[in-house]
Amino acid sequence: MSAERFLCEAIDLARDNVRRGGRPFGAVLVKDGKVIATGVNEIGATGDPTTHAELQAIRAASRALGSPRLDGCVIYASGHPCPMCLAAMHLTGITEVTYAYSNEDGEPYGLSTAAIYAEMARPVAEHRTLKVAYVPVRPEGAEDIYKMWKAAAG
Ligand SMILES: [Zn+2]
Repeated sequence: MSAERFLCEAIDLARDNVRRGGRPFGAVLVKDGKVIATGVNEIGATGDPTTHAELQAIRAASRALGSPRLDGCVIYASGHPCPMCLAAMHLTGITEVTYAYSNEDGEPYGLSTAAIYAEMARPVAEHRTLKVAYVPVRPEGAEDIYKMWKAAAG
């Protein structure tokens, strides 16, 4: 199947989601040319701000494959992925993402994440709306959590 076909499927999911009162985002996760999982934006239905279409598809795919790794998988998203979803794709090994609606397309509707991308491009210490602080606390007499994990992992 072509990219256009999977993108149309993602857009159909987004359209159905709008009909159910949700936001206009859908995603299809494909491995070896087959749809492994799909997702829609469920923020309104769940009250969970991380339930973006791409993350929902990633969650479903990980469950379906029984692995937190999604190496070689491709995501077709109705809209440009936000930084959270894009980071999740990097973290899970997804190798490709294609989207149908750009941030420019979404801007007039308040559906662009371009401003967050601009903020993320700045060094973390220079973020204007989120204070990021490194305070290297190591409780005295307590086992170091990283060393503990390394020892447990063998
Ligand atoms: Zn997202």
